[in-house]
Amino acid sequence: MNVILPDGSSKEVNEGATVADVAASIGAGLAKAAICGKIDGELVDLTAPVMDGSRVEIVTDKSQEALSILRHSCAHVMAEAVQVLFPGVQIAFGPQTDDGFFYDFGLDSTISSDDFEAIEAKMAEIVERDEPFVREVVTREQAKEIFADQKFKLEHIDDFGEDEAISVYRHGSFVDLCSGPHLPTAGRIGAFKLMKIAGAYWKGDAENEQLQRIYGTAFFKQKDLDAYLHNLEEAEKRDHRKLGRELGIYMMDDMAGVGLPMYLPAGARVIRLLQEWLRRELYRRGYEEVITPHIYKADVWKTSGHYGFYHENMYFFHINEGSDEEPRLSEYGVKPMNCPGHVMLYKNSIHSYREMPIRFFEFGTVYRHELSGAVHGLMRARGFTQDDAHVFCREDQVVDEVLAILDLADNIMSEFGFEYAAEISTRPEKSIGTDEMWEKAESFLRTAIEQRGIPYEINPGDGAFYGPKIDIKVKDAIGRWWQCSTVQVDFNLPERFDMTYRTADNSEERPWMLHRALFGSIERFLGILIEHTTGNLPLWLAPTQAAVVPIADRHLDAAHDIAARIRGIEGRVEVYEQNEPMRVKIAKAQAAKVPLMLVVGDKEIEEGTVSLRTREGGDQGSVPVEDVLKAIEDARIR
Ligand SMILES: [Zn+2]
Ligand SMILES: [Zn+2]
Repeated sequence: MNVILPDGSSKEVNEGATVADVAASIGAGLAKAAICGKIDGELVDLTAPVMDGSRVEIVTDKSQEALSILRHSCAHVMAEAVQVLFPGVQIAFGPQTDDGFFYDFGLDSTISSDDFEAIEAKMAEIVERDEPFVREVVTREQAKEIFADQKFKLEHIDDFGEDEAISVYRHGSFVDLCSGPHLPTAGRIGAFKLMKIAGAYWKGDAENEQLQRIYGTAFFKQKDLDAYLHNLEEAEKRDHRKLGRELGIYMMDDMAGVGLPMYLPAGARVIRLLQEWLRRELYRRGYEEVITPHIYKADVWKTSGHYGFYHENMYFFHINEGSDEEPRLSEYGVKPMNCPGHVMLYKNSIHSYREMPIRFFEFGTVYRHELSGAVHGLMRARGFTQDDAHVFCREDQVVDEVLAILDLADNIMSEFGFEYAAEISTRPEKSIGTDEMWEKAESFLRTAIEQRGIPYEINPGDGAFYGPKIDIKVKDAIGRWWQCSTVQVDFNLPERFDMTYRTADNSEERPWMLHRALFGSIERFLGILIEHTTGNLPLWLAPTQAAVVPIADRHLDAAHDIAARIRGIEGRVEVYEQNEPMRVKIAKAQAAKVPLMLVVGDKEIEEGTVSLRTREGGDQGSVPVEDVLKAIEDARIR
């Protein structure tokens, strides 16, 4: 019989051949590298039989799918080890995750991370034995017999449909109810590590029995595990929640509410600086700043469509617009987006084609209801400030406007040293607007992005229901990608709010509307920036630019004089007055990530200098005070 290979060629194989046989018939190298296969697009074990005419693909350890299969197989190995070490354990589910795997166990005694060494040692023995994962298709009755003492498995067997195939996988003494596929043998697991233990509920339902979930990760090669662990350590060091606390950037308080960061003076300073920097850039680029309220009547949200489509993400409440005797309650909603406000501002006057484009920007604070499990420091909060703007323009201006936005995005990303890439999301199944509008809009976005030479991918069907968009992702110093800027075309709001402009022949036309936010959320951008720089913000953005450190109390006055001169040029400075040893003060300034440390003693006062230490370069020797002032002056936002 014949099977079809990915390149379209056909290969003759013997009756009863398996995926492994197909791999072997192609080459010995491929047979060795094979982890599993795909038959007609579906992942299967290497031992799966192929049919005449099947499309067969061999999956090797180079692919992400193979890594997922390795990790899931490692979950079996871990469950096997736990079953040996904790007799009577009830096994639940053990899937792979994005960066590893877990398995849930029901057990009267508590497993702790102290047990990890023993479990890992047992797992190593199992991997060493290199036994195969053997698939077996069984009847419901057989399955119930096999798992007679495993209550979760028995419950799960009842979930199978009448004529659904039930497969089990045996590995050594261990057997699991599983659809597969798995590695050919456990020996292919090159390296693994147990990471943590947490509580979980059977089937994720808090009404159900509580289980113990052990998380682990696994790789084909030890060096990949080492790199992963190193990256985790790096990420932990850079965690903006930890640095945010240490640097006095922000705090959270349960009394205030979940996902509502509160900015301490250093954080507020940095956020204002980011805004100031961008504001100047925006004024230079023909944007006009506007300010809109935080709440609107529900009517606005009904007109915009948010009331229907975005309701569960919004906060609604009532205001009595009558009197105590005759209450008249109006429903209001807190803004989750700034767009309707900018649309209303546009509609305040009649616009001519000659005025276009009109570009409104606002540092608009918005509130969105995120699930409490989803909030994460500054990265995902319920309240945040967007560097939001809306461009209203004629059709013949769209490409130029998108180009201008991409140029500004490039300016921002290079200022902060981010590499970036883009994605264009196209028309989803449920959407409004004509085919012609969508094709036009998508081609405008593509034209602009290609003209600008930004690498991009297409995300088919991932646009908003009201228009296509460009998403820009930035890559941080340790290789993680963060979604940042978006540029979005909108056919919806101009229609819903009946927006128009007057054309040359005095008829009315709908303007095109672009939404764009480049930092995205300013606070989130700060979070990314803190992780990217490990809190070492550049001189122009550092909340405190210089620490003046007097050597002894008699140098305090001179220290304060220098600080006053720095403040005089709008520099941000602190005097370290405490009577502490010099090394303690320097360690404090280092920990606070202050870019410049200015040490003042007898010699410096006499010479009109400071002894300069920089955050990155250490001791720079004696430098005239004027030079320091000039460096700070040069770093001023302009
Ligand atoms: Zn499995
Ligand atoms: Zn918008």
